[in-house]
Amino acid sequence: MVFLIIFGTRGVTTTAGSGEFHCPDCGAKRPFEHKRVRRFFTLYFIPLIPLDTIGEYVECLHCRSTYKPAVLELLPGPDEKQIEAEFHAAVRRVMVLMMLADGRIDDEEIETIRTIYGKIASTTITKEDIEREVAASQADGRGLRPYLSSVVGSLNDAGKEIVVKAAFFVAAADGDVSAEETNLLAELAAALEMSPAHFKGVIDQLAA
Ligand SMILES: [Zn+2]
Repeated sequence: MVFLIIFGTRGVTTTAGSGEFHCPDCGAKRPFEHKRVRRFFTLYFIPLIPLDTIGEYVECLHCRSTYKPAVLELLPGPDEKQIEAEFHAAVRRVMVLMMLADGRIDDEEIETIRTIYGKIASTTITKEDIEREVAASQADGRGLRPYLSSVVGSLNDAGKEIVVKAAFFVAAADGDVSAEETNLLAELAAALEMSPAHFKGVIDQLAA
């Protein structure tokens, strides 16, 4: 009688942990599984004795992307997509409020808003979208300062600068920045909790 002893090693993947993490691909909070690949000594193809760990990774259960375990140290943070949406909404509203500052809406201003918004949001906005935003802002009735005070928490410094720049371009669209528009810009920066020096820096850079 001949016994053939078959032995070897093979990798066995197990789930070492799970929870929620900030998935870089999804740009959002997602459930994950922390997988560990361990080499096992096998006998007749059955893994019997655990040997060394040969790999570890974290898998997003939503998009199935895999990452090094260090990804779990990324701060969960607020939902990036939501922040982006709020930022775009703020830019849109601020540009419309700037456009309404001189009491009239001209086509040049609408075109400027479309161009600037397209660059900032990497998407197009139609004349009708702007008209809807105008109606929404009129229905809302809040001026620049109360509106911005309600969204300032969701904007970072770079976002604030872009909002100010966008407003400046709208103000400058009709050829000059009126005293009323300059006041509005300053009011905007104050509502964004930007220091006067920071605001002046941004405006000087644009006016140069
Ligand atoms: Zn994901």
